[in-house]
Amino acid sequence: MHVVVLGAGYAGVTLTRKLESSLPAAVDLTLVDEHERHLVQHEVHRAIRRPSIVDAIEVPLDSLFDRAEIVTARIEDVDPEANRVVLDSGETIDYDYAGLCLGADTADYGLPGVADYGLPLKSVDDAEAIRERALEAIDAGDEARFVVGGAGLSGVQVAGELATLAEEEGAADRIEIVVLEQLESVAPAFPAAFQDAVAEALAARGVEIRTETAVSEATDSTVETRHERTGTERSVDYDLFVWTGGIGGAAAMAGDRPIVRADLRLTESTFALGDAARVVDADGEAVPASASAAIRAAPVAASNITRLVGWELDDRTGFEPRMELFRFDVPGWIVSVGDGAVAQVGPKVVTGKPAKALKASVGAGYLTSVQAIRQATELVGEELNA
Ligand SMILES: Cc1cc2nc3c(=O)[nH]c(=O)nc-3n(C[C@H](O)[C@H](O)[C@H](O)COP(=O)(O)OP(=O)(O)OC[C@H]3O[C@@H](n4cnc5c(N)ncnc54)[C@H](O)[C@@H]3O)c2cc1C
Repeated sequence: MHVVVLGAGYAGVTLTRKLESSLPAAVDLTLVDEHERHLVQHEVHRAIRRPSIVDAIEVPLDSLFDRAEIVTARIEDVDPEANRVVLDSGETIDYDYAGLCLGADTADYGLPGVADYGLPLKSVDDAEAIRERALEAIDAGDEARFVVGGAGLSGVQVAGELATLAEEEGAADRIEIVVLEQLESVAPAFPAAFQDAVAEALAARGVEIRTETAVSEATDSTVETRHERTGTERSVDYDLFVWTGGIGGAAAMAGDRPIVRADLRLTESTFALGDAARVVDADGEAVPASASAAIRAAPVAASNITRLVGWELDDRTGFEPRMELFRFDVPGWIVSVGDGAVAQVGPKVVTGKPAKALKASVGAGYLTSVQAIRQATELVGEELNA
């Protein structure tokens, strides 16, 4: 019997580690990713200002597992009906059960020019490209404007890094940073107290926030916007345009982010979790695309796959096993805003040093949980000095 995990982000790494201990030894376990290293993506914006953090947020996959076979290859296609994966080499992998953990790609929703001119942020290379462009504009010595489209978790944190970078380079007085958000507040998917604290932290760093402002188009020097209520259209000139306005399904899923219910089951034998799917949890709530959710869904998928494998190995004797249901429950949320941080713990919002310490401990706690101890230690140092 063969179980495969597709994608080695938070969901895939956590799922594979769980399956290593829960699956019977006779079951083959394979993890496929196009990269040889696991990226701690929720810290990648830090590399815009602190390139040295890269050592702490990339973990070689071969250091993380005991028995899983790691295949480094780009997945071209997944057929969850046929239990088959096609790799870029043309090879195929057939499976009995799979965890689909391919994450999401940046979506431009077909807005003209956005994919061409908006820099995405999903990888270390993306962060380096943003840093290079920002420093170029700062070093030119003139006034410049950096525009961030989309104020979700990534947009907020990019704006914070850019503001603090300008400050550190002594250019805060001539670098304007504008965040454009279509909905009514920054961090729109999160609690109101958290939104207010994030908006305050951005404003304290001189970031201008324009809410209810949708990007409609981009050229090589302007972003066109439309106010959601008044319909007023405005052109915003930019020197740097970062697009963090949305996510769509991974290319290997033809852009699809399928909906799965709380058992995370996409088909009889394929489970989908993390950003790759739109998950509705056991309370009927839409689960936000986040590292927190990806990590928390993995034990449920591992448990369900293990139950089904056990049943198969038992010649399907008796009823099909009951599936465990995913209920998304987090103690809170934390974002960095440049050299500061905002955390919501229960109903309480925390900022300043306590929030920074919490942010460092959450990232390090995750790395420790996957046994990446060196990276965990380095991350604490990087975060506290950020
Ligand atoms: C700048 C930024 C800041 C963020 N901040 C936060 C935060 O503060 N808190 C939070 O909870 N979340 C945050 N997030 C969101 C979080 O990073 C994602 O929700 C999380 O990474 C999803 O995990 P995942 O395992 O589903 O996917 P990913 O971590 O994206 O992993 C997907 C994996 O699949 C692999 N893959 C994809 N396609 C292929 C293919 N065709 N072939 C082979 N391999 C493939 C990729 O290489 C990758 O390893 C942030 C995201 C960004 C970009």
